[in-house]
Amino acid sequence: MADTTVTSTFRPSRFNVVTRTDDGDAVVLYNSMRGSVFRVQDPVGRRVHDLLHNRRSVLSRPGSEAADESRLFDTLVTKGFLVAEDHDELAEADALRDRRKTRTDRLELIIMPTEACNFRCTYCYEDFALGRMLTEVREGVRSLVRRYRREQGIESLTVAWFGGEPLVAFDVIEELSTFFLEFCAEEGIEYSAGITTNGLLLTPEVARRCVELGISNYQVTLDGPAHTHDSSRFLMGGEGPSTRSSPT
Ligand code: SF4
Repeated sequence: MADTTVTSTFRPSRFNVVTRTDDGDAVVLYNSMRGSVFRVQDPVGRRVHDLLHNRRSVLSRPGSEAADESRLFDTLVTKGFLVAEDHDELAEADALRDRRKTRTDRLELIIMPTEACNFRCTYCYEDFALGRMLTEVREGVRSLVRRYRREQGIESLTVAWFGGEPLVAFDVIEELSTFFLEFCAEEGIEYSAGITTNGLLLTPEVARRCVELGISNYQVTLDGPAHTHDSSRFLMGGEGPSTRSSPT
């Protein structure tokens, strides 16, 4: 990224998502390049919306006489919602992708512990055929990680739990996560994990256990507001809408 300390003009990042909260008194910002999330209450939220909604705007950092505006502006720059006007974000994304593709010191696995799911979304492409990852496949995953350490000397391992609905096979997640945590601790490998879930089984107890198992990144899938979500996401067995996942 360009050095923003010497830059005087900025523009909104092309990777921004800006939306108002359901109750309409705040703005939520998400930047898909940097993973930043920021919630800003009105009236400052409205100001942020005005600053960011037009991607072609060219903006100058406010002077020191407008201290609040200046602080807000700097926060938006630090979190990547504003970028230097001449910064090529597409080139940055390409370089990031190329670096990740060619790294050999890092292993990233996307693991489906099951194809089964407790939802039946109208657009789902799964056939839900495989109920639970087989014992020999789980052993294969462990062998793969050991081999990458032995042959390539990996220094970091990242796991993304995916499905189906991964929490339907939570015992598989527990078993493999326990292995990953122990193996990485023994070998001095950096470990991180995330999960994509519809959230229905993400009770406080399960969430606590997930954190113990090293899962620190959560993508809970919601299809917008409740009426949109519930028009396409149904529970398995025709039990009606999923009534918008609520991990409480
Ligand atoms: S939650 Fe995901 S896996 Fe389950 S039915 Fe919906 S789209 Fe398919």
